[in-house]
Amino acid sequence: MRYQSFLVKYAEIAIKGKNRHIFEDALIRNIRSALKPVDGIFHVFKEMGRLYIKMDEPYDYDGALEALQRVFGIAYICPVVAVDSLEFPVIADHVADYMRAVYPEQEASGRSFKVFARRASKQYPMDSMEIASELGGVILEACPHLHVDVHHPEISLTVELRQQAYIYSENIPGPGGMPVGTNGSAMLLLSGGIDSPVAGYMIAKRGVRIDAVYFHAPPYTSERAKQKVVDLARQVAKYSGPIRLHVVNFTDIQLAIYEKCPHDELTIIMRRYMMRIAEQFAGKDGAQGLITGESIGQVASQTIQSLVCTNAVCRLPVFRPLIGFDKQEIVAVSEKIGTYETSILPYEDCCTIFVAKHPVTKPSLKRIEHSEKKLADVIDQLYQEALDSAETIEIG
Ligand code: ATP
Ligand code: MG
Repeated sequence: MRYQSFLVKYAEIAIKGKNRHIFEDALIRNIRSALKPVDGIFHVFKEMGRLYIKMDEPYDYDGALEALQRVFGIAYICPVVAVDSLEFPVIADHVADYMRAVYPEQEASGRSFKVFARRASKQYPMDSMEIASELGGVILEACPHLHVDVHHPEISLTVELRQQAYIYSENIPGPGGMPVGTNGSAMLLLSGGIDSPVAGYMIAKRGVRIDAVYFHAPPYTSERAKQKVVDLARQVAKYSGPIRLHVVNFTDIQLAIYEKCPHDELTIIMRRYMMRIAEQFAGKDGAQGLITGESIGQVASQTIQSLVCTNAVCRLPVFRPLIGFDKQEIVAVSEKIGTYETSILPYEDCCTIFVAKHPVTKPSLKRIEHSEKKLADVIDQLYQEALDSAETIEIG
């Protein structure tokens, strides 16, 4: 069966009351840009509170579906047959053709169905019950290999009479969430690991636009490690839309910390500088929060006490969507969104090079602040240099 239209059912955005049009418009924009790289011409429009996409032939069905399954805010994608006429016999003919084509005897023999009818105009000469039962009869005649089950149908055929008649029975799940751009923006601290791309995905799923910052330490970290982060950002951007990635040279700050601060506190102090710098970029990009891939207790720098120390330097809220996730749960999401394969490539990370053998697991904020004072004579300049020399890469 070749479809010329999709009905797009949206997720939670349907309940947003007066703001509904803001959400719908953002969703339409995001659908249009997701479909841009797909072969074909796609018309995205609203009709009587529903969102449709009409396709001109030829177009890439699988490509379109794949793109739509990454647009947050979409609950279901229904390939529909749109019928120009609202005349009942015309609709009935299309319904019979549809059922014969989609559920042929050799594939669907013995399956049960139920017809759900909806009409937008109460002026229509038949009510929903009549439409459904008449069409049920039409289907039984066209497809004697099917039978009706009103309680537990295997096939739910929906016929909606609006400006046109729409016929569909497939509900292909979308990613859910809210359209990106409807909930402000945040700055993701993106490393080359498994966690932070997942964290970015999860916050973007709530409608938040994301930008990212990556800290590298050349020559201790390689060009390939940086490329890996660019690749991860590109994969996340397939869901979140464009990401501005700031690549910060962190080498001199790390060397200074390594030279002057107690080694068991290296990671925490480093993390605090990452947060401070990320906040600077958030300010420049107009981001209203920071995002990290931290999860309680995963490593020494993510115990509650460590998180308290890291958090203490931030003025913006820090979103940690993985905070209560086990590694396995995080891995499952990263496999689903296609970042896992890249994340496990074995390139060195700036944090793993300067790690202590025995990092503190219960750092005290007072002591950390005291240790940081040892950087006083160099840090302002190094900090400024790191900001000034950052490279910005537009992704997606
Ligand atoms: P990840 O998969 O995010 O690397 P991880 O378990 O390796 O997870 P850590 O290295 O402890 O986590 O880092 C915690 C968080 O700090 C990361 O999730 C990320 O948000 C941020 N972070 C760590 N290293 C970097 C880096 N080099 N650049 C940017 N952000 C980083
Ligand atoms: Mg990491």
